[in-house]
Amino acid sequence: MSTTDELLRANERYAQSFNLGHLPMPPARKVAVLACMDARLTVERILGLDTGEAHIIRNAGGIATEDALRSLLISHHLLGTQEFLIINHTDCGMLTFKDEDLRNRVEKQAGTATVAPVHFHAFDDLESNVRRQIERVRSHPWVPRQIPVRGFIYDVKTGRLREVQPSAKTAAA
Ligand SMILES: [Zn+2]
Repeated sequence: MSTTDELLRANERYAQSFNLGHLPMPPARKVAVLACMDARLTVERILGLDTGEAHIIRNAGGIATEDALRSLLISHHLLGTQEFLIINHTDCGMLTFKDEDLRNRVEKQAGTATVAPVHFHAFDDLESNVRRQIERVRSHPWVPRQIPVRGFIYDVKTGRLREVQPSAKTAAA
């Protein structure tokens, strides 16, 4: 049995006792989280969130890519979220390679170049990466000023979140 088949069995059990069909579309706690896709980071559990309470947007690195921004904008403007959190974490895979190296490796393996993705968004410093993502979100002209955008590093060894202070430039803005 493939893992997908196992997951489908789990869903069958889940649906048998499902009782959340009444939930409305807008997140009840009015919050959106942008986080890394790392398998050790279960955003809902880390933050004590239940189904229906938050938007959780995830990608490799917790990067405010154009698509993550698209989701955040929909989250706020259509579904009423009022606070954004960005979560990176210790021991992130994005710290282990350089865009150029991965590009060359996959290109060689596949035997062909592609136009997308343009960037893998690898980084070598967690804190500055979080700051950069905060700035990308905050500086977007369609993200209202009053929306708090706070960034954190999750420690995969302790389960604890540590807040990253935004750069002076951002704080003053
Ligand atoms: Zn990661």
